[in-house]
Amino acid sequence: MGSARESAVGPGWRHEQIGFRQHDTRDKPEHPPWRWTPARDIMQAMTRSCSVCGGTTFGNLTILSDKLVAEWDLSPTEADYVNRQQGEYCLSCHANLRSIVLADALRAVWGTRLLLRDFCQSADAATTSVLELNQAGMLHPYLAKLPGHCLAVYPDIDMLALPYADGMFDVVVHSDTLEHVPDPVRALAECLRVTRPGGAVCYTVPVVVGRLSRDRAGLPPSHHGPPDDTRDDFLVHTEFGADVWTYPMRAGCSEVRIFGADHPTAHAIVAFRGPPAIQVPVETKAVVDFERLAAIQTEEATRQAMIVDVMRRSTSWRVTAPLRAFGRLLRLPIR
Ligand SMILES: [Zn+2]
Repeated sequence: MGSARESAVGPGWRHEQIGFRQHDTRDKPEHPPWRWTPARDIMQAMTRSCSVCGGTTFGNLTILSDKLVAEWDLSPTEADYVNRQQGEYCLSCHANLRSIVLADALRAVWGTRLLLRDFCQSADAATTSVLELNQAGMLHPYLAKLPGHCLAVYPDIDMLALPYADGMFDVVVHSDTLEHVPDPVRALAECLRVTRPGGAVCYTVPVVVGRLSRDRAGLPPSHHGPPDDTRDDFLVHTEFGADVWTYPMRAGCSEVRIFGADHPTAHAIVAFRGPPAIQVPVETKAVVDFERLAAIQTEEATRQAMIVDVMRRSTSWRVTAPLRAFGRLLRLPIR
């Protein structure tokens, strides 16, 4: 691991990177002590960099059609951040923010500070086994270089019935796929089944942080992808909201960590099968809040407002037992 490569990571726009430094100060003496700062302030204070390739210049595309904004009932602010999640991209490697935050989650799971591009070709990566379900955004060309890489593409492979033995992979990766699967909890349970104990399922879904998840059953069909493309692959079954973490919990994972890139723009979710094999540092402010909230006796509507509020305010966080208890209070169907 060359120090030149590591320094190329540089300060990013990612909150979890700040949390990372809180835990690992061995070679970062110049960094000030960690403190919570609103997302926009950090954006302005830090130099942006891409965790896939180290690029520092970014472009913007408008991705959402008016039709999709209407179908999704997005406010102008929500449409703006979903557009940035999908359409703000690194000019060097073309990774958009959702790919960049997923790269950060993977780097945390692998315990590396190398850029994703460099890690995938490093000696450290030689023994890791990865199942990539559909091409994971702009990460695919790099993941494909891993010696232990396996790509599974719909409809050849059905996420609801994976043709792999239990515990075959260290990491399972997918990006903006789960919202198109009719039964996301079962799909995540399948992902966890083929993940080895201590391993993780790392993925992105579009998250509207200001509301709870919505099943589109009974609503007019809505498709992602090109505006005129109405293939089944693009049909949206679930619009994920602030309770996005309940899905992997219901699927049986032991712990969920949520990574944010310029919160609320993009999130990556890491769901562990059993105790994590390595310590994955992430800011845990929300857990403290939930411990307190779980003790509060109040109406369900108020608790639901609280869960939305925590997602709004929390950038990167960890879901463990207190949050599980809080989910039960909310009557969210988690284990
Ligand atoms: Zn890049």
